[in-house]
Amino acid sequence: MLPVVALVGRPNVGKSTLFNRLTRTRDALVADFPGLTRDRKYGQANYDGFQFIVIDTGGIHGDEEGIDEEMAKQSLLAVDEADVVLFMVDARDGVTVGDQAIAKHLRKQNKKVYLVCNKIDGIDAHSAMADFYSLSLGELYGIAAAHGRGVEQLLEICFKPIAEEYPDVIVPKDVESEDLEHDEIDYDKLPLKLAIVGRPNVGKSTLINRILGEERVVVYDMPGTTRDSVYIPMQRNEREYVLIDTAGVRRRGRIGEAIEKFSVVKTLQAIEDANVVLIVVDARETISDQDLNLIGFALNAGRSIVIAVNKWDGLQNDHKEEIKRELDRRLGFVDFARLHFISALHGTGVGHLFESVEEAYTSATQRISTSKLTQIMEMAQEEHQPPLVSGRRVKLKYAHAGGYNPPRIIIHGNQVKDLPGAYQRYLINYFRKAMGVMGTPIKVEFREPE
Ligand code: GDP
Ligand code: GDP
Repeated sequence: MLPVVALVGRPNVGKSTLFNRLTRTRDALVADFPGLTRDRKYGQANYDGFQFIVIDTGGIHGDEEGIDEEMAKQSLLAVDEADVVLFMVDARDGVTVGDQAIAKHLRKQNKKVYLVCNKIDGIDAHSAMADFYSLSLGELYGIAAAHGRGVEQLLEICFKPIAEEYPDVIVPKDVESEDLEHDEIDYDKLPLKLAIVGRPNVGKSTLINRILGEERVVVYDMPGTTRDSVYIPMQRNEREYVLIDTAGVRRRGRIGEAIEKFSVVKTLQAIEDANVVLIVVDARETISDQDLNLIGFALNAGRSIVIAVNKWDGLQNDHKEEIKRELDRRLGFVDFARLHFISALHGTGVGHLFESVEEAYTSATQRISTSKLTQIMEMAQEEHQPPLVSGRRVKLKYAHAGGYNPPRIIIHGNQVKDLPGAYQRYLINYFRKAMGVMGTPIKVEFREPE
């Protein structure tokens, strides 16, 4: 589980700037579900070794009335999901009425709030910040989000109290790049953690009930639950699974209610904790940016995926063809993920899902020898030579596995770090085809002689 940090404040104080700095990605998940009236952005932060989920709650003026007030409240609901709230103000504006209103709201909540004065670059920070003590939120933290000044110190302070609760929050900086000892892990003996995710109403609960209702499935007692998802251990065809149920099937009474229960944080946590992510989309609705964002998030997190297009029952043939064309067009970037057309309601195609889940897991965890990887690398190099870098031809020497789940392939050679992204993508695709892996992202990294 990752800690959750919410950014709150008026428009223009610098929330997006800080968000982008923390996540360094354009793949932020934007919550545009029905029932959520304000845009919230969700991203995974990995900043100087600190890992967490960050929410940009969207701008709240603090002086909203009527319907706007309702929307502002919605926006602040994100605070409920957070472990830590960073309340951002603009050091150059001084305290505004809006800041006071937001502060009043935050003081009423039982949350750890840090008051962050942004834009302290190029001004007398001390005197500019002094004003904000009047908000009665305790200590002030000055930063310049645009330049990164003070950000690391801020994180160090706000993560101190929660480090015990989340032992993995700070990851040594070099862990990613080091070759880890994966060979001792026997993936076959571990239960396969399968997260079932998707927008509200796509049919997640129906699908989970269908899976659990199958005769061959043995469901065990539910152990402790984490945050909001329900973990359901089960056995199917000799293999142990843990279903990560983001829809809360076992929690809610009736299927078909609960848009308000949907939580992006819960979904992101479930993806984070899974081996394979089953992304459910609704055949009757065009695939949304939100669906694509979810897929992108899962792949970025290194998770294997399977895509289920649900509600495939009762559709006319030409409608089906049209849907398939649309999916082909929009899902081109994940052509390595299996697509299943299912009806959770009638059970059609549900059993076959597990074949692809197994395949994705095996693809992500199978061992591949150095000689095999080097051989594939050489074939790739022969078919398509690396480009010249500063007048010299880059030479790939050998390849070996740097880890699994997802597979990481380390390629050694001279000047390989200067290879363009296009060549790296070519190698990734080549390895994927040659190794016959489905459903899992692959990473290719380069090493040069010291
Ligand atoms: P948001 O509406 O709260 O998300 O604010 P933005 O992140 O969009 O920032 C609003 C404006 O403030 C933009 O023009 C930013 O470039 C600027 N800004 C953000 N952070 C800083 C900072 O640290 N210093 C200065 N000088 N400007 C900043
Ligand atoms: P969740 O919010 O993703 O858990 O979605 P639910 O499982 O609650 O389903 C939302 C609605 O879609 C309910 O009315 C279901 O009966 C309906 N539904 C789910 N799966 C199917 C399906 O395969 N076909 C059809 N026609 N309707 C479905």
